[in-house]
Amino acid sequence: ELKNDTIKAELGRGTWKLLHTMMARFPENPTTSEKEALRNFLHLFSRLYPCGECAAEFQEILKKYPPQVSSREAASQWACAIHNMVNVRLKKEIFDCGSIADKYKCGCDDENDNKKD
Ligand code: FAD
Repeated sequence: ELKNDTIKAELGRGTWKLLHTMMARFPENPTTSEKEALRNFLHLFSRLYPCGECAAEFQEILKKYPPQVSSREAASQWACAIHNMVNVRLKKEIFDCGSIADKYKCGCDDENDNKKD
């Protein structure tokens, strides 16, 4: 059980990293199609996330707090807020969403990401 908890936590860390980095790279002014893609991705993601217990909880969160896809800022803040809801449930520290813009970089060699840490 301890071993499983370690694996589950590792999956969670990798997944949150991917989700927050996707939001940090989401267009500042997304097209209708880009908004739809993010909304669809998150709903499919919540069905397919391999930790069943986590997926069920996440689906409940999505019902109450539909993905905000109007802009990069809206999407990033939404993801930060829902991660904090999971943090509360798991009795973890609340993350300061004000600082999120600088934290998630993808290492992609293009605009906005050329600054080294
Ligand atoms: P994580 O929560 O994995 O966070 C990783 C890093 O992200 C932190 O160290 C911090 O630097 C940063 N961070 C923290 N909060 C935020 C935030 N709000 N916004 C941006 N960055 C932040 N585990 C369970 O045991 N039960 C569950 O029901 C469960 N549900 C999950 C649902 C989803 C959708 C996901 C992706 C994961 C879920 N997990 C669940 C895993 C859990 O959330 C953690 O990923 C895991 O416990 C490891 O936690 P951690 O303390 O290393 O930090």
